[in-house]
This record gives sequence, structure tokens and C-alpha cells, in this order.
Amino acid sequence: MNEKTFITNIFDFVKKILFFDFLKGLRVTFGYNVSKSITERYPDQEKWIPYDRFRGVHTLNRDEQGRELCVACELCSKICPTDCITVIPMEDDTGRGIADRVPKVWDVDLARCLFCGYCEDACPTTAVRLGREYEYASFDLSSAVLNKDQLLVPQPIPESFKGGVHAKSRLIKTKEGIEVKADLSQTAKRKV
Ligand code: SF4
Ligand code: SF4
Repeated sequence: MNEKTFITNIFDFVKKILFFDFLKGLRVTFGYNVSKSITERYPDQEKWIPYDRFRGVHTLNRDEQGRELCVACELCSKICPTDCITVIPMEDDTGRGIADRVPKVWDVDLARCLFCGYCEDACPTTAVRLGREYEYASFDLSSAVLNKDQLLVPQPIPESFKGGVHAKSRLIKTKEGIEVKADLSQTAKRKV
């Protein structure tokens, strides 16, 4: 045993008998006990904008010409551990996709999805991506199944937008009623 290892062992031993790691953990716990409570005014006044690496609801993407990137190879559905993606391919030479093979059906069942990201890792064309949408609560299981038309809509949070912030909410009047949207121009890091 060299001198450096000997000193490290002594140091570790002293830390053990003084319960150093235990006290370090308690310091974090007690720190939260005395810190100010925060109530998030979600969703009508504030929204949490997740980090760009967040794995939320899937998006099906297009290339710069607006063509669907999905070539209906079914790799995503084969690799999915919960078998929650359904892909039914079809031949289509109208140019709407990057290949003549496009998905006739591309469904994902969010009630079974683990948001593990395997589907996006397996995708050879970067067609499927897990986006940053997390507001998908519903009252019935059938509305947890999203189809291609719903997933092909552009992501509401731009890819380039770095998240991890709270944004002010905006109330927007639509034909369906009032929608609450995050105002990305007004964001702030919360002091905890
Ligand atoms: S994120 Fe995982 S569980 Fe969800 S659809 Fe993709 S592969 Fe399946
Ligand atoms: S999303 Fe990707 S992996 Fe899934 S069928 Fe389309 S091209 Fe294949």
C-alpha cells in the first residue's frame, strides 16, 4: 500500500466514524424544511417548460421540403418494449414522403408508453422524436392513442429553445374555447 492510498483509507475511515455522508444527506433534507415553499400557478398563470432533453409526447417529423421522413420500416414498433406503436405501411409515389413507402397508420398508445426513447434511437430517418409536450392527461384511454395526423403537427416548443424554465401563460381564444399557452418570451429560472 502506497502513502497516497494509506491517507485515502484513513480519510474514509474518519468520514465513516463521524457519519459524514449521513450528515451531508440530512443537511439537504433540513435545508428543504426551512426553505420557502413554492406554489406553481399552473396552468393559467405559469407553465413549466421542460429541458430540451426532456422526453415527452412523440412527434413525427418532415424534411425541409415538407415530406414525411417516416419510411414505415416498422423498426420503432419492433423495438418498443411495450408494443405501443402500430405502423401499417403503404406504397405511395406522390412524393409526399422521402421514399415511396410511407405509413398509412402510425399510432402510439401513450397510456402504455414508457418514454424510454428506444423508438427514436431505432429510427433510421429521425422521423420519430420524443418532444417536450407533457400535457396529455385525459379522461378515457382511447384519447391516449395518438395518430399520424396529430403527431405530424409542428412541435409547439421550438427545438432550439433551451428549457428548464417557468414561462408566463397566455390565454388564447380559439374556435374550440380558451387555450392556455406558454409565453416563451417571458421565462424565468425559479430560485428554490
Ligand atoms: S418511448 Fe419507448 S415505450 Fe414509448 S413508444 Fe418509444 S419505444 Fe415504445
Ligand atoms: S418512425 Fe422511423 S423507425 Fe418508425 S417506421 Fe417510421 S422510419 Fe421506421
